Amino acid sequence: MKKLDCRKLDLLEKILDSGERLTLVTHTHPDGDAVGSTVGLLNYLIMNRKDAMVVYSDKIGENLQFIINKAVRNRVINFCDAPEKAQERIQSSDVVILLDANSFRRTAGLEEILSNSAAKKILIDHHLNPEESQFDLIFSETETSSACEYVFYILMELKEVSGEAKRLPSETSRALMTGMTTDTNNFANSTFPSTLEMASRLLEAGVDRDAILSNLYNQYSEYRIRLMGTFLKDLMILTAQGAAYAILDKKTQNLYHMGIGDTEGFVNIPLSISQVKISIFLKEDDGHYRVSIRSKKGTSANQMATLFFNGGGHECAAGGKLVFGKDIEGPSEAPIYIENAIVRFFQKEPTQKELQ
Ligand code: 5GP
Ligand code: MN
Repeated sequence: MKKLDCRKLDLLEKILDSGERLTLVTHTHPDGDAVGSTVGLLNYLIMNRKDAMVVYSDKIGENLQFIINKAVRNRVINFCDAPEKAQERIQSSDVVILLDANSFRRTAGLEEILSNSAAKKILIDHHLNPEESQFDLIFSETETSSACEYVFYILMELKEVSGEAKRLPSETSRALMTGMTTDTNNFANSTFPSTLEMASRLLEAGVDRDAILSNLYNQYSEYRIRLMGTFLKDLMILTAQGAAYAILDKKTQNLYHMGIGDTEGFVNIPLSISQVKISIFLKEDDGHYRVSIRSKKGTSANQMATLFFNGGGHECAAGGKLVFGKDIEGPSEAPIYIENAIVRFFQKEPTQKELQ
């Protein structure tokens, strides 16, 4: 991670000190990093007696509920449960901070409210291409594992913390460790020297990593593991180009009682096959498929998501949507669409020589 810019930190400290009402927002379908970075920062702001809240665009998965501690539970608004309350909160805020997303576009239903708000707008993110025109102050860094890691290093620079991780509220430390762990897939990718240093400093400050790992990876339903069997045996398709894809329709999701976040990680599994360079996972939702893409180094998940799935993300981890009535007529057309996309993608793929 690059050194943080002192002037930006001064400005952030000024804005945080002067802002009366702060509201944190993140991307739709919040993952561990989105929830970890917002809850982590929220706990810090509350400890410093700020009027702070988080507004999520939609629901948080069961597997992440453990980081939403009691003190912040009534400081979390969900736009899909309480749209008017969410709107009122954003409209009456002095400061809005977007975490783990590069644009208000990623907040779906909140986009218009956020864009029209008169609040000071701050970005803290680790994706490519921040939408600069939307923000008054931008912390954007791709050489970092996660928004959680970035928040950690920003907090370390603030006066109240002065580099002492022990001074963070324990709920902040736990939330940041959690989001960093999920975004690196438990240190399997995007792990920088600064990431290990953060982990080390948080462990030293007393974070119970075993409890976090147990909550994240050992609390799944039996259904998830049985569905994984079906995924591997019947749903995963390998193509001649070295791609894997799988489509999970609503019927199968219901059969296995799948809730939000329950299929997290499925998309990674095909990458463990030696010839697979990119893995695409489609999960049927209302009116569209949610698309998750992962790739090995040298193949761009981000390009695949951008070119064919109305999305984006990082080089090796990206996502998007396949919309019924727009990209495809209906769910049954997905296999043909993907097969075509894969052929076209690999025709376009630059050679190693071109990349150098
Ligand atoms: P996931 O597959 O875990 O949902 O997402 C992987 C990565 O892709 C995340 O970093 C996420 O921010 C990004 N991503 C997922 N969905 C979208 C999308 O619809 N648009 C964009 N621009 N990025 C996405
Ligand atoms: Mn992230």
